[in-house]
Amino acid sequence: MRIQQGLLEQGQKLYEQMSTEDKVLSDPVIWPFGMAMRIGGYTPAIENECLILRSCPICPVGKGNYSTKYQKETAVYWGCPHCQNITE
Ligand SMILES: [Zn+2]
Repeated sequence: MRIQQGLLEQGQKLYEQMSTEDKVLSDPVIWPFGMAMRIGGYTPAIENECLILRSCPICPVGKGNYSTKYQKETAVYWGCPHCQNITE
C-alpha cells in the first residue's frame, strides 16, 4: 500500500522548516519519508545503531535499495522512500 499523502505532506513540511545546515545533511527524498513513517506510527528498526535496508521489491532493480525496516506494534513493515510503498 502507498503511504498516506497527508503523512508525506507533514514530513515534507518539517523538512522545509529545517535550517539550511540541517538540510545539507538530510536527503530531500529519504528524510521526509522517514519522518512521515514516524508520524504514522512506524518505528524504524535499528541494528548495531544502523537502519536495516533491503532492495525494494517494487522499484526497478538497482534503483530502490533504500527500503527500510519499520515496526508498528508487533508487525514488521518495509517502507521505500522512492516509490513510497509500505510492504509487509
Ligand atoms: Zn520502492
